Amino acid sequence: MNKKLIVVAAPSGAGKTTIVHHLLTVFPSLAFSVSATTRVCRAHEIDGEDYYFISAQAFRARVANNEFLEWEEVYENQYYGTLFSEITRLWAEGKNVIFDIDVKGALNIKKAFPVEALTVFVKPPSKETLLERLRNRKTEDAKSLEKRINRATLELTYEPKFDTVVVNDELQKAFADAEKIVKDFLEK
Ligand code: 5GP
Repeated sequence: MNKKLIVVAAPSGAGKTTIVHHLLTVFPSLAFSVSATTRVCRAHEIDGEDYYFISAQAFRARVANNEFLEWEEVYENQYYGTLFSEITRLWAEGKNVIFDIDVKGALNIKKAFPVEALTVFVKPPSKETLLERLRNRKTEDAKSLEKRINRATLELTYEPKFDTVVVNDELQKAFADAEKIVKDFLEK
């Protein structure tokens, strides 16, 4: 039965989104869990595909209504969360679900689904590389970049709490490692 949860987390800038997109192209049984967020939609993003972009008020209402499996204030005044309805929707379609979420959210999903979930930590080759990647991204202004750097530094400390680790140094190698991990887990 396809009821597995692959939870990919990493410090911002470690390359987890690229790895998640790659895994989605390799494994047809996987579907992406679209999170709800209060942050503004970036130019290339599509509402309902990358995120459900909702207001802070709507987010709070859904929290009060217990609609989230997990949620976090990942950055100050920016809320992100996984809706129960997203998982049940994808499970009803017969899919396994893959998540691109922050480290705390990943561990909360594991707590809720200890058997069904595999937590994967995507690790940059070094802290210096990570900070360099973040600076080169240029999607952020200086203040938001600083927030992301502080956050990434904290997130790096979560590695030992994860089921497995993929080092993202050389991308093709990281893809191959992640594929093997997911294949083994889905076949288990
Ligand atoms: P970004 O703003 O760069 O898209 O995402 C910021 C961070 O929030 C990333 O680490 C991303 O993985 C995380 N994130 C996205 N969706 C969720 C979610 O539903 N729950 C949690 N806890 N974190 C999320």
